[in-house]
Amino acid sequence: MPEALIQLNNIVKDYKTMRALDGVDLEVFPGITGLLGPNGAGKSTLIKVLLGLVRVSGGSGTVLGHKLAKEGKAIRNKVGYMPEDDCYIAGMSGIQVVQFSASLAGLPGVEALRRSHEILDFCGMQQERYRTIETYSTGMRQKIKFAAAIVHDPEFLIFDEPTSGLDPEERESLLNRIKILASTVGKSVIISTHILPDVQAICDQVVILQNGKVRLNETLDELNRPSEASVSIRVNGDVTPISDFLYRQNLQVTAKPNGKLVVGEDANDSSGGLNTTERNQRVAAIVWQGARETGTTIQSLTPAKNSLEEIFMSVVSEAANADS
Ligand code: ADP
Repeated sequence: MPEALIQLNNIVKDYKTMRALDGVDLEVFPGITGLLGPNGAGKSTLIKVLLGLVRVSGGSGTVLGHKLAKEGKAIRNKVGYMPEDDCYIAGMSGIQVVQFSASLAGLPGVEALRRSHEILDFCGMQQERYRTIETYSTGMRQKIKFAAAIVHDPEFLIFDEPTSGLDPEERESLLNRIKILASTVGKSVIISTHILPDVQAICDQVVILQNGKVRLNETLDELNRPSEASVSIRVNGDVTPISDFLYRQNLQVTAKPNGKLVVGEDANDSSGGLNTTERNQRVAAIVWQGARETGTTIQSLTPAKNSLEEIFMSVVSEAANADS
C-alpha cells in the first residue's frame, strides 16, 4: 500500500451555525481521486481546508507531509488549484494570465513565459492565446484556468468541476490531459465533480461526501469488481443469528449501518459456470433459507449495486436516511 499523500483526522468546519464538515477522516493515495457529492455536501469546503484557505474548527491532518493548520503556504506552493469559477483580470490575454500565475508561483520572468507557452501547447491552445480572455469560449477559458493551475509544475493538483460547460470533445481532451499528467508525469490529482462518467473514466479512488461526512472511500477497481455476487439485505431486529448462519455457508457478511448486511460469495468461490445474476440468485436463496432457519424477518433484499451511479445514489440516500 503506498503512503497516503493526504491524511485527515476528524476534521470539523463550522460556518457560524452551519457544520460544513462533520468529522472527516480521509486518506488520499497517489493517483487520481474523484471527490463526489450532491450540492452542499462540503466538497468546496474540504478543498479550501486542504489548501489552508479556511481555518478548521477541529481535527488535524497533513497534505504532502505538511500540517494543515500551520503550513498552508508550503502546501499551496506544492498544490495546483483550478477553481470552479472564472478568475482573471479583465483585458489580459490568455498567455498573460498563465504567465501571471507562473510569476505568482515564483518563476522568474523568462522561465514563466517559456513554461506558459509550453503548457498552452500541451492544452492545444493555438494563436488564440494572444486574444483577450473576454473573447474566449467556455472551453478556452477552462483551458486557461487549467494551464494556470499546472504551470508551476506542482506535485499535487486539485481541479474543481474541471469539465463543467465543456462539449463532449473538449471534455474528453481535458480528461485525457489529466490522465497524462497522472500516468506520464506522475502527478496526483483530486477532481471534485458531479459528473459520474468523468470519475468512471479516469479516477483510481472515489470519495463520496454527504452532509459533511465521508460516506464512501474506495478504489474504483474495488467498486467495479464484477466477480463476486452479492446482495444487500435489511433485517428486523438482531442480525447475529442470520449472520452466523451465512458465515457457516461460506458467505462473506459485512455489517453496514441501520441493520443492513451485504452478503457475498467468498472471493475464492467460483460457483462453477454461473453468471453473476445466477450467482446473485444463489446467494439470495441461501439468505432466504437462513431467514427461515433462524426466524429472522427480512425487510428488503436487493442485488448489491455496481454502477457508479447506483453506488452514488444508494450511498447518498442511505446517508440521508441515517441523518434524518
Ligand atoms: P459543495 O461544494 O459540496 O456544494 P460547500 O462546501 O460549498 O458544498 O458547502 C457546504 C455547506 O456549507 C453548505 O450548506 C453551504 O451552504 C455552507 N457554506 C459554504 N460556505 C459557507 C460560508 N462561507 N458561510 C456559511 N456557510 C457556508
